[in-house]
Amino acid sequence: MDLDSMDCTSTMDVTDDEEIHQDRHSYASVSKHHSSNNSNANAASGLLPTTTSVHELLECPVCTNSMYPPIHQCHNGHTLCSTCKNRVHNRCPTCRQELGDIRCLALEKVAESLELPCKYMSLGCPEIFPYYSKLKHETICNFRPYNCPYAGSECSVLGDIPFLVAHLRDDHKVDMHSGCTFNHRYVKSNPREVENATWMLTVFHCFGQYFCLHFEAFQLGMAPVYMAFLRFMGDETEARNYNYSLEVGGYGRKLTWEGTPRSVRDSHRKVRDSHDGLIIQRNMALFFSGGDRKELKLRVTGRIWKEQQQSGEGGGACIPSLS
Ligand SMILES: [Zn+2]
Ligand SMILES: [Zn+2]
Ligand SMILES: [Zn+2]
Ligand SMILES: [Zn+2]
Repeated sequence: MDLDSMDCTSTMDVTDDEEIHQDRHSYASVSKHHSSNNSNANAASGLLPTTTSVHELLECPVCTNSMYPPIHQCHNGHTLCSTCKNRVHNRCPTCRQELGDIRCLALEKVAESLELPCKYMSLGCPEIFPYYSKLKHETICNFRPYNCPYAGSECSVLGDIPFLVAHLRDDHKVDMHSGCTFNHRYVKSNPREVENATWMLTVFHCFGQYFCLHFEAFQLGMAPVYMAFLRFMGDETEARNYNYSLEVGGYGRKLTWEGTPRSVRDSHRKVRDSHDGLIIQRNMALFFSGGDRKELKLRVTGRIWKEQQQSGEGGGACIPSLS
């Protein structure tokens, strides 16, 4: 037996010799782990080449990107991705025949069944999913970039938190502060003429994290109000580790708010519309501003602190909609 295989290997090159040794090794272990070894053998022999050729099959002949539903084909069966289909003016790029509107359902089924890495793989996400689950996951993936939290204009910049902090400082010229207490004065010379306004964002750096303080004027029902709230630059699960308080007052009266900062994953508009912050009636704000109540000079003080680990943590966040 041993001699036979020796004879055989003597005519082969070194790599084949190694394969034979590996085969004999796995044969020896079959008796111990019969079933698991079998499936391993299947995976090694069959799966890899098949997957490769399926990926070739799913390559769009025009743009060479992978095709996902909807996948189109001409009367002669030439396939095409949906992006290219919109660009070829109803002519099959392969045979020049009229393209029509035929889906290739069989290929779509294949495409749907393939496991694909999350598109934020390069940002650290290790997940793989079949096509539609992947699309669903990508909308909530924790590694997806954040939108710029600046509220004053529509800013389409995306990135991770360190990138966005630099972007806020350099491009939006946002006030940056270190420390977890603050004392800010919001001023407006003609407050009764302005119903909607967004003041310059302030960013606080404490506990190694970044927080955005927003201040806005808007109409709440018929009443003009101001609202101050804090957003956490990070995900919601982390935001729950922090608390903050806001306070305005004067002349023996004060209003305070205590809450959990919302994640910047929630747009500032969404937070504003859920009234999750300190809301001050304009008349009250002008009263606190002193003087002849014609000018807004509202001092907002506040503090951020780290929440003690509570029992029953992870029992679901309660994000109120106070509207
Ligand atoms: Zn294409
Ligand atoms: Zn064709
Ligand atoms: Zn992901
Ligand atoms: Zn921006």
